[in-house]
Amino acid sequence: MKAIVKQTAGPGLELVDVRMPSMGVNDVLIRVLKTSICGTDVHIDGWDDWARKTIKPPMTIGHEFVGQVVDFGANVHDVRKGEIVSGEGHIVCGHCRNCRAGRRHLCRETVGVGVNRNGAFAEFISIPVTNVWHADPNIPLEILSCFDPLGNATHTALSFDVLGEDVLITGAGPIGCMAAAIVRYAGARHVVVTDLNPYRLEVARKMGATLAINPQEQDLTQVMQDLGMEEGFDVGLEMSGSAHALKGMIDAMCHGGKIALLGILPERVDLDWNKVIFNMITLKGIYGREMYETWYKMTVMIQAGLDISPVITHRIHYTDFKKGFELMKSGKSGKIVMDWAEVE
Ligand code: NAD
Ligand code: ZN
Repeated sequence: MKAIVKQTAGPGLELVDVRMPSMGVNDVLIRVLKTSICGTDVHIDGWDDWARKTIKPPMTIGHEFVGQVVDFGANVHDVRKGEIVSGEGHIVCGHCRNCRAGRRHLCRETVGVGVNRNGAFAEFISIPVTNVWHADPNIPLEILSCFDPLGNATHTALSFDVLGEDVLITGAGPIGCMAAAIVRYAGARHVVVTDLNPYRLEVARKMGATLAINPQEQDLTQVMQDLGMEEGFDVGLEMSGSAHALKGMIDAMCHGGKIALLGILPERVDLDWNKVIFNMITLKGIYGREMYETWYKMTVMIQAGLDISPVITHRIHYTDFKKGFELMKSGKSGKIVMDWAEVE
């Protein structure tokens, strides 16, 4: 089968023929229909420090996908051939304290699909049945292909109650933009999104942000005044990974404000911790998705009318993957969905 593979330790990816994935007794074999490109895939392609430490070539990359069940192992009883499924990209150990308590997103032994084992940028993928998400086939395939990052956005956005609250989102990458749509849908009053990139600020506006601003051009204090806000933001969603953005967020929060941190920050960030303490700010780290409450919530929100389609800005065939990666690097994209239709 065809797959997009990190062949050797160094920059670049190749489209090559690889062996079909093996399928154990607890696994489901899935024909991949659509995938979307994540920032993580771009890091693997570029071979940065993180990738060098983490990735063991040769390995098929990719973890955001939707597909159709073609086969399953002897222990699997609750899937049907032909069913449309997506997959949770974090494979957990199943026997640590958190796993056994049903808090699987807190597992200490998480293995990442397309990061620590072969991934989804291939014609077929095999994953444990416990990682299969039975998708609603009425939801468009391209939306289902984004359920992994939509899950990051949902997990973060629903971490704190946002009904009637003013929300600040730093970073209008695909996840920040999806989070804007979710908090808007969940009843937030003002949703202010910041980014330095005008293309992405425009996507954030399409996703329902009250205001999408460049903090280098517009001061958050002024923005709050313009919106008639007196005490600061109630909820902050940090989705840029920028230390600068986090500092600005802490300054813009009300007393007792709550911040969920998804963006991957530099190893050391110099903060004025007394602002956190005296203003009694809650900080909560977020990793991945809750299994499977996040998947449930995002499915029902989409079924009930949440529209995230403006975040999908490009659609390509997998044979054009290099174009997709270039687009990701240009910053002039939201989600890029790759189609895995067979080539003649
Ligand atoms: P992305 O890199 O596409 O988006 C980040 C955005 O932040 C970019 O548009 C960038 O222009 C913007 N930005 C940079 N500096 C800024 C600043 N000072 N103020 C405001 N915006 C600024 O990433 P994404 O795919 O949308 O993911 C969002 C973040 O979440 C990334 O840091 C990613 O690594 C991280 N992530 C974490 C998890 C997790 O489980 N914790 C999962 C997926 C992604
Ligand atoms: Zn575990």
